[in-house]
Amino acid sequence: MFRRFDVIVIGGGHAGCEAVAAAHRLGCRVALITHRLETIGIMSCNPAIGGLGKGHLVREIDALDGIMGRLADASGIQFRLLNRRKGPAVQGPRAQIDRAAYRVAMQSAILSMPNVTLISDDACEILVKGTRFQGIRTGSSGDIEGASLIVTTGTFLNGVVYRGNESYEAGRDGDAATKRLRDSFNQFGLETGRLKTGTPARLSSRSIDWSKVTMQAGDERPVSFSDLTSSIHCDQVSCGITGTTEKTHDIIRTNLEKSPMYGGVIDGVGPRYCPSVEDKVVRFSDRSSHQVFLEPEGRSDDTIYPNGISTSLPFEVQDAFIRTIPGLETARVKAYGYAIEYDFVDPRQLSNTLNVSGIDGLFLAGQINGTTGYEEAAAQGLYAGVNAACFSRGVESLQIDRADGYIGVMVDDLTRRGTREPYRMFTSRAEFRLSLRVDNADTRLTPKGRDVGCVSDQRWTVFQRNAREVVSLRENLEDITITPNEAETQAIQINRDGRRRSLFSILSYPDISFDDIAAWLPKDREFATQAIERVTTDAKYAVYLERQMEQVESYRSSRNAKIPEDFEYTNIPGLSQELTEKFCHHRPETLYHAEMIDGVTPSALVLLSAHLSRHKRDQASENSQP
Ligand code: FAD
Repeated sequence: MFRRFDVIVIGGGHAGCEAVAAAHRLGCRVALITHRLETIGIMSCNPAIGGLGKGHLVREIDALDGIMGRLADASGIQFRLLNRRKGPAVQGPRAQIDRAAYRVAMQSAILSMPNVTLISDDACEILVKGTRFQGIRTGSSGDIEGASLIVTTGTFLNGVVYRGNESYEAGRDGDAATKRLRDSFNQFGLETGRLKTGTPARLSSRSIDWSKVTMQAGDERPVSFSDLTSSIHCDQVSCGITGTTEKTHDIIRTNLEKSPMYGGVIDGVGPRYCPSVEDKVVRFSDRSSHQVFLEPEGRSDDTIYPNGISTSLPFEVQDAFIRTIPGLETARVKAYGYAIEYDFVDPRQLSNTLNVSGIDGLFLAGQINGTTGYEEAAAQGLYAGVNAACFSRGVESLQIDRADGYIGVMVDDLTRRGTREPYRMFTSRAEFRLSLRVDNADTRLTPKGRDVGCVSDQRWTVFQRNAREVVSLRENLEDITITPNEAETQAIQINRDGRRRSLFSILSYPDISFDDIAAWLPKDREFATQAIERVTTDAKYAVYLERQMEQVESYRSSRNAKIPEDFEYTNIPGLSQELTEKFCHHRPETLYHAEMIDGVTPSALVLLSAHLSRHKRDQASENSQP
């Protein structure tokens, strides 16, 4: 076995797998150290991938040639496009996944990578010389050297599982916690904190009375995550929808003190947007019911994941409250729910490439950075994987900013603002969401990925073909113009001002569809559905997109605005003494660097930016005087 690698990855979860695959695509020799090889790619919690905001991340992973989207397409058992009736900017593809099939697919994808060495072991110490990463000390495989390291230990770092008054150390139920790595983080002086999350009981499908629940089918035309999936033809399964009752809430309320989350046993902060059922009953005490989705864990798996009732109540209370839910009166629990509390590293100590500041070659990705969710983890894994590989090879890193993609939004949020609760992605986190759509992830990111070398020839060919289709359709629509009279022949009503308008501008009208204008397009040309959908969306949003592009330019130029070395911070009106001292101490090179300083608020940045513009104007007028 090689003892020296270009990139070492600790952890075979969602972040770790994408990190390995990304570094491998860049031609690196990679070692994946993980506790148990059979748990590579396992879904610790819900059997689903995608959703609002999360679906955007999966599409971006795919645009950078990552693997999550392809595997989700191949192992999906129900596909739904969420928010279908709302605008394309906030739609999110989501798939119910066959958990076992996904894990097997992930393991065979990793196993098929010739330059990846799998090491089943406990990584226990990070070896650093000066300010540079050197290697990893393992429990039984000795020391392994590497040029860079990506730590993706998920919920395992000092993990403690709680259920009722029982608690024990574990990374998740059935897996040992990671304890010794924490010493390395302490030694590097990194700040850590505690977070918590929880999972519901798993039920036997055969014990559920399905006649009492509403069934929800998948979409007739499934939308894939990956551009490499030509189409999805599978028998989709349905999910059930039921809900908690007043009786359920009574039982939970009566037993609240038995929940470690309420008994004050767990200090860590939980996911606000994915609360436990105890949380829901207390926080929304006026609600008489909360929805519960009954999600199959696989095609030939009897297990049902009851989404919406994650809990850390004792076994007998879980049994009791579950049986008050319509359809679950005789439900048999296959595994009980629990909560887990774990350490995370404050991500403000990372640079925008996910490199730990001050330790060259050490990267962190996934839940260890304070996020929750497979998609958030995988997206960071890919980004850190590419950047660790770039670092090892001494080449320019991949930079994705807030205007490029949701990956940029997440990395920027984490590294600049940090997080106090498990961070999950939402479309509302992105200020440029009209241009950050699921349908144009490839245009935004595939060329960037190709430049750093993480996009394969196969993906590049598909991208170029799709891009040509979009450009050609758009050119046709912009070149062909018609008069209001000609429009009338297809029952299109536009202002009778005699002006010729392009088909593209007519398509921008809210009630005009592509089919309405198709009659004027060349008869010998057929356009792909993806190109039609993309160009139609661009036309509908054209006015807003133009405005957004101006905002993007201003964001990028202000971000890169240079601050002179001798810039005077002491007389900025309205700036607090504390921040004045911080700016004087750090002397940031650009506004972006100023923004990264701990404690800098958006309003402080506005003051600094305005003062900087004034300073530059004064300098310019001084220089122009004879
Ligand atoms: P993980 O998938 O946890 O993978 C970590 C990997 O690192 C594992 O393979 C482990 O064996 C390995 N490892 C750890 N330490 C070492 C070491 N020292 N040496 C070698 N290998 C090591 N997400 C949601 O979106 N919603 C939820 O409601 C939700 N609830 C959850 C509830 C529970 C109980 C758990 C456990 C997770 C939950 N998640 C939830 C989170 C989801 O599982 C994670 O966000 C996701 O799996 C994180 O991916 P990751 O790659 O960062 O880490």
